[in-house]
Amino acid sequence: RRWWVTVPKVELHAHLNGSVRDSTLLELARRLGEKGRIAFSDVEHVILKGDRSCREVFKLFDLIHVLTTDHKTVTRITKEVIEDFASENVVYLELRTTPKRNDSIGMSKRSYMEAVINGLSSVTEVDIDFTPHSTDHHDPASSCNSIAVNNVDHQGSGRKKIYVRLLLSIDRRETAEAAMETVKLALEMRGLGVVGIDLSGNPSVGEWSTYLAALQFAREQGLYVTLHCGEVPNYEEINAMLDFLPQRIGHACFLREPDWVKLKSSKIPVEICLTSNIMTDTISSLDIHHFVDLYRAKHPMVLCTDDSGVFSTSLSKEYSLASSAFGLGRKELFQLARDSVEFIFADGGVKQELKEIFSSAAGKLE
Ligand code: 5GP
Repeated sequence: RRWWVTVPKVELHAHLNGSVRDSTLLELARRLGEKGRIAFSDVEHVILKGDRSCREVFKLFDLIHVLTTDHKTVTRITKEVIEDFASENVVYLELRTTPKRNDSIGMSKRSYMEAVINGLSSVTEVDIDFTPHSTDHHDPASSCNSIAVNNVDHQGSGRKKIYVRLLLSIDRRETAEAAMETVKLALEMRGLGVVGIDLSGNPSVGEWSTYLAALQFAREQGLYVTLHCGEVPNYEEINAMLDFLPQRIGHACFLREPDWVKLKSSKIPVEICLTSNIMTDTISSLDIHHFVDLYRAKHPMVLCTDDSGVFSTSLSKEYSLASSAFGLGRKELFQLARDSVEFIFADGGVKQELKEIFSSAAGKLE
């Protein structure tokens, strides 16, 4: 697996609260336990448990949110998650998170996102680039110099550097109004590295029609859209999602033959999360994973972690797993990582710089 740690990688499907270190969750749980707000012994085994069914995963997220949803902790986990990805040579990370409102602690969707941005600004272990290079969508109101302070290219300094862009998630439990509020917030925060919208949350909850207006508005305004699609056999919804033509989809597990045909002809890139699919039992075994068929069809795909904390994985592990499960060599998988650059939502300048990083890595591999 070491080899996979060393090579540059691109992560396009990572949920902030799913990527928190176990050690941090345990520390937070212990602290809330001491305050008498939760019973530590009850949550300890839940945090450390291995396999989780799809239903259990969403219960676990409710617990994680109890532990992490205050401004200070959101800032902390953002910083840690970025440093963790950078430490295994993820050179570009699209981090997604659901802006949360919690009146009892004075949290609005906006203040939640400000806490995330503070996390980006407080990354110290590596160099981080999170503000847009082009001025196309720049919002003058948010051009804050102190925020861009870390955004310096230390080329040749020997320090690791990571590009980070943000996607704001709409949770399927939310109302149409809350979804629209998230999209409007994303538009206001473009100058701070927000590039798109994700639709996620428990796939057995909610209706596609609830989010459609917000997603359409996002697209009209030039935000990119990625959808969790086909995590459960909800065929009508899968069909409607493919017809929407999002810029990417996540998972794509329960597609039927006509849906595969539609997906392949649309060339919508698929974010593949192998460990997540296996651990939630969405796919029973890797031998029958749709990765194989899509890879043969040369369909655009990206290997991703989904929730590296919850599923005890890392992007290096996902590459190593793809290599052993599908018999792909280093050369093929390096190419897959390199091709991922085409599907990022950041501007052309970032794309170009990432291409150079991969060219230089390819030279060293030969
Ligand atoms: P957050 O948005 O709070 O930073 O990250 C956790 C949230 O991401 C979960 O509450 C859930 O809404 C979403 N999420 C994480 N993993 C998955 C997944 O595998 N499928 C779906 N549909 N949503 C997920």
